[in-house]
Amino acid sequence: MLQTIKKIGVMTSGGDSPGMNAAVRSVVRTCAFHNVECFGIYRGYEGMIDGDFVKMDARSVKGIINKGGTILKSARSQEFRTKKGRQKAFNQLTKAGIDAFVVIGGDGSFTGAMIFNQEFNFPVMGIPGTIDNDIFGTTHTLGYDTALNTVVDVIDKIRDTASSHNRLFFIEVMGRDVGHIALNVGVGAGAEEILIPEEDLGLDRLLESLRRSKQSGKSSSIVVVAEGDKIGKNVFELKDYVDQNLSEYEVRVSVLGHMQRGGSPSCFDRVLASRMGVKAVESLIVGKSNFMVGLKNDIMELTPFDQAVKGKSKINMELLRVSDIMSI
Ligand code: ATP
Repeated sequence: MLQTIKKIGVMTSGGDSPGMNAAVRSVVRTCAFHNVECFGIYRGYEGMIDGDFVKMDARSVKGIINKGGTILKSARSQEFRTKKGRQKAFNQLTKAGIDAFVVIGGDGSFTGAMIFNQEFNFPVMGIPGTIDNDIFGTTHTLGYDTALNTVVDVIDKIRDTASSHNRLFFIEVMGRDVGHIALNVGVGAGAEEILIPEEDLGLDRLLESLRRSKQSGKSSSIVVVAEGDKIGKNVFELKDYVDQNLSEYEVRVSVLGHMQRGGSPSCFDRVLASRMGVKAVESLIVGKSNFMVGLKNDIMELTPFDQAVKGKSKINMELLRVSDIMSI
């Protein structure tokens, strides 16, 4: 087949996640391997509109596989949401001779790419980069595994202090509207309860479970709360509720925040990023467009953008049962 793609752009967009640099490295080196020129697009769609492009070769991405964040910087662009902004972006890409781009980001970034593809018939490919694992079409998004390891480490540390003082800790973790992070770190760190948006435990059952924990002789209790959980309006209101209704506990709250998005990517995320980059570039080269690269049953597969954006990523409810049994 005649290779029509000669210059590929790569960018990171939306929230950053560990593994984005490893994916940039993979895209750049796969381009080099196939003799396709590669340009880094800085600051996501913002940089695309401004023509902030830098030519990259295999050596430009040395020493970044282990780095958190993104060397290309990320941004959220209001202007790209407008037709005028996207026209500017198209003009900049055309001026630079870029034939296609790979966007590493979340569902918003994919929606932008899909609209851009429809408007200008421009080849695009997506790599899911977010710690939340909330994208349909892949069992793992880039950064998710690293975030799980980061959070488990922190909860282990909180447990040390919790058990020294017989304390109950509510620990809020990220995950937006889904409970993947909470559920997995809850099981991994041995939490007494896990509160996720997908399952409404109810305040009464929470109190009952905490009472049981206390009676069974536990010296500390950890409750992992997904940020999108609906049981209490927020984790501080949950604390107040338990304070008022369970006097036997000294309750503390820890909101882990943005540290969950940082740090050196895990080996799993580095390998995943490397595989995703290869698949994204090679798919563009053979003429595919408008797909997201994903992992399914340990195989790299493509999911059309519209499905990836509209579909729902499912949590593993079996883990809730495992957690219940483990916290006896
Ligand atoms: P995260 O999961 O971290 O939020 P994301 O990719 O979903 O990442 P968004 O801020 O939703 O992050 O989207 C990133 C960028 O994609 C936006 O700033 C905007 O430039 C572009 N974008 C999002 N939605 C659209 C849309 N409907 N039309 C055009 N562009 C869009």
